[in-house]
Amino acid sequence: MAEIRLKSLRHSYLPSPKAAEDYALKEINLAWDDGGAYALLGPSGCGKTTLLNIISGLLTPSEGRILFDDTDVTDLPPDQRNIAQVFQFPVIYDTMTVYDNLAFPLRNRGVDEAQVDARVREIAVMLELEDSLRTRASHLTPDSKQKISMGRGLVRDDVNVIMFDEPLTVIDPELKWKLRSKLKELHQKIAVTMIYVTHDQTEALTFADQVVVMQDGEIVQIGTPVELFERPQHTFVGHFIGSPGMNILPCEVAQNAAWFHGCNIPLEGPIKSKDGRTEIGVRPEFVIMDDNGCIPGTVRKAADIGRHAVVEVMVGNTQVSAITDGPVPERGDDVYLRFDPEQTRLYTDGWIATERALP
Ligand code: ATP
Repeated sequence: MAEIRLKSLRHSYLPSPKAAEDYALKEINLAWDDGGAYALLGPSGCGKTTLLNIISGLLTPSEGRILFDDTDVTDLPPDQRNIAQVFQFPVIYDTMTVYDNLAFPLRNRGVDEAQVDARVREIAVMLELEDSLRTRASHLTPDSKQKISMGRGLVRDDVNVIMFDEPLTVIDPELKWKLRSKLKELHQKIAVTMIYVTHDQTEALTFADQVVVMQDGEIVQIGTPVELFERPQHTFVGHFIGSPGMNILPCEVAQNAAWFHGCNIPLEGPIKSKDGRTEIGVRPEFVIMDDNGCIPGTVRKAADIGRHAVVEVMVGNTQVSAITDGPVPERGDDVYLRFDPEQTRLYTDGWIATERALP
């Protein structure tokens, strides 16, 4: 196992890149601690697979270095990096039994049979495959095949890192939830560094202790699920995480205060930068509809989804989403809104621009 450090990584698929947009990865500096559970989260095309392939050695970066502890592995081929990888689609031998599939990575490295047997049975129990160990893999469902694929990634305990690239794509929605929690449990048991690549926030937030959020070839925030939810460093993170995502509302800044539709909006703390495009960020969970509100709006849509309702309110041409567990207004109702100041932030040019007030 090892700490993995990425230093000044840039990658372009073009032969002579010039402008920033020529790079699939713009500038990545990152350290993955030994034994951590990480997710790499971002929309399609943001560079997740490029980064993963650079770590595994399938791709050589245009610039920068990759270090496993103090060893520079940038120029080493994949088989010398001691990595396990689980892909989107099952990579297994159909003609072999489940047992032999799981044993393969160990036998391949000359591990003795007693140890192979112990480890295969341990992993099979963890993945609930123990009843099908003698079954030929070709007879299994795609779900079970992917479980074997995951098992093959997990079976060795001497790898530097296990990387999962959207591993639940082929899994039935009901089983997805189960496998997600299973993987988290497995990480706690075997404590190998794991990097889980996904565009699905639920998968990232349930699996990882630290989530690395990427946009357009760059890392916009690294944080715990709670940090990403509570205090997004960038409007992209606010909008991408949460359902519905954070409200990002264009605002004016004057006399060191933020103004939205003529109302002074109390913020979490002092404004540290006001140059550039200014926006207020507040999650729907912290938008309050009551008579103490200053911001007048009209309800466009209200959806009662059981434990709470999601209400879309138009303030002029700007839509504000609110989550409420109080009375649900109807379409066309006039309402007044206010925001919980502790959870209301200012962003300039997308980046957080308020400081938290000291308690
Ligand atoms: P997805 O979830 O869709 O796989 P991703 O976040 O993994 O997306 P990448 O596949 O790393 O993103 O792609 C990042 C950028 O690099 C995209 O603009 C993509 O079009 C480009 N790209 C990826 N692979 C190649 C390639 N082999 N040749 C040229 N451009 C590529």
